[in-house]
Amino acid sequence: MDRYSLTHVPDPVLLRGLRALVAQDCATTAMLLAHLAEVDERRLYAAAGYPSMFAWCVEELRLSEDVAYKRIQAARTARRFPVIFDAVANGRLNLSGVMLLAPHLGEANVDEMLAAAAGRTRAGIEEWLAQRSPRSELLPLVTQLPAVQGPEGQLAPGRVKFDDTQPAPERVAFATPARLAPVATERYSLQLTIGKGTHDKLRHAQALLGHAVPAGEVAEVLDRALDALIGQLERRKFAATGRPGSRPRKPSANPRHIPAEVRRAVWQRDGGQCTFVSAAGHRCEARTRIEYDHVEPIARGGQATVAGIRLRCRAHNQYTAECAFGAGFMSRKREAAQRAAREARARAAAAEEVVPWLRALGLRTDEARRRAANCETIPDAPLEERVRHALSCIARPAWHPAAPLPRPAP
Ligand SMILES: [Zn+2]
Repeated sequence: MDRYSLTHVPDPVLLRGLRALVAQDCATTAMLLAHLAEVDERRLYAAAGYPSMFAWCVEELRLSEDVAYKRIQAARTARRFPVIFDAVANGRLNLSGVMLLAPHLGEANVDEMLAAAAGRTRAGIEEWLAQRSPRSELLPLVTQLPAVQGPEGQLAPGRVKFDDTQPAPERVAFATPARLAPVATERYSLQLTIGKGTHDKLRHAQALLGHAVPAGEVAEVLDRALDALIGQLERRKFAATGRPGSRPRKPSANPRHIPAEVRRAVWQRDGGQCTFVSAAGHRCEARTRIEYDHVEPIARGGQATVAGIRLRCRAHNQYTAECAFGAGFMSRKREAAQRAAREARARAAAAEEVVPWLRALGLRTDEARRRAANCETIPDAPLEERVRHALSCIARPAWHPAAPLPRPAP
C-alpha cells in the first residue's frame, strides 16, 4: 500500500499522527539549527570550497535561498541565546518568530522576550513588538518615498526595516529588497526603492546625458553609470589600465605592496575568481570580496610576484591564513586589528570634539582641525584639557593660556 495514502486512517488517529509529526518537526528543527550553528562557527563551509555559510547551504545542502537565509540567521541567534533551541524544540517559537525577535534580543531581556512571544503567530509577535517599540519616527520617511514603488504604489509595512538603536529619523535605515527578475530572453526587470539623494543623482545624470540619451531612459543611464563604475573599480582594485606598463615604477619598500602589473596578470590568470579548491575538488565560485593573497605568507618570505600571488575570497584568505598560522593566532590578530580601529575612531572623535572650541577662539576650520589632531594623543583627558593642549601647540596665542575658554556657539 502507498504509505502516503491516508484515506483509510480514522480521524482521531490522523490528527494524533499529525500532532506527533509537528512535535517531531520542531525537535528536528532545533537540532538542525544547532548543527548549522556549529558548522558555521567552525567555518566548515570554507574547507568545502564555499565562500559563505549561505553559499554552502544553498549549493551543497540544496536548501532554497529563503530557507537557508532564515535558518542561518535563526541558528546564529540561537547560538548567542541558547534558550532559543529549547523554545523552538518544544514549539513555543518558530523560525519566523526567532527572526522577528533577533534584532531586539539582549542578555537582559531574552527570557522576557521569549515568554512574550511564546505561542504567538507572526502577526501577533509583530503587533507586540510594535507596541513595545513604537515606529512613529519612521512615518515621515515612508511618506517621503519617491513614486517608484511597486505596481500598487504601496510600501508593504512588513518590508520596512527599522533599527531602534538609531532613533534619529535621518539615520533610520529602511529598505525594500530590490527585485531583479527575467521577463523575456535577455530582458530583466529591476524594481527598487531609492533615497532622495540617489533620485537627485539620477536626474542630474539624465540632464548631463541630454544629447547622448535624449529620452533619458533610466536603463540606458544605469548601463552607462555601471560602465563608468566598473571601469573605476577595476582600475582601483585590479590595476586594469588601457596602457599597461607605460610608466616604469620604482619598486616599493613595503613588502605588502603588490605592483600593478602583478595584480593585472594575476587577475587575468585566475579569471577574477577565488582559486580555493576543496579536498573534494570543488573550486570556490566567489567573484565578490576578492583579495590578493600571498601563496607563501609574507612572514615566511612570500614575494609579490605573479607566481607568488593568487586570488582568494575573504573567507578563503582567512581560512588559508588560519591553516598556516592557527585559528587562535589569526583570531587574536583580527581582534587586535578591530581594537586598534576602535581606538583610532575614539582618538579621532576626541579630536573632533575640540574643533568647535578652537573655532570659537577664531581659528579657521582647517587650522582648528590640524591643531585638534594634537589631542589624539590624550583622548581620555577632559575636554578642557584637550582644548588647552591643542592651543599650547600654537606659537603666538591671541589669549592668555590661563584665561577662561570662550564656549562655542550652540
Ligand atoms: Zn573562496
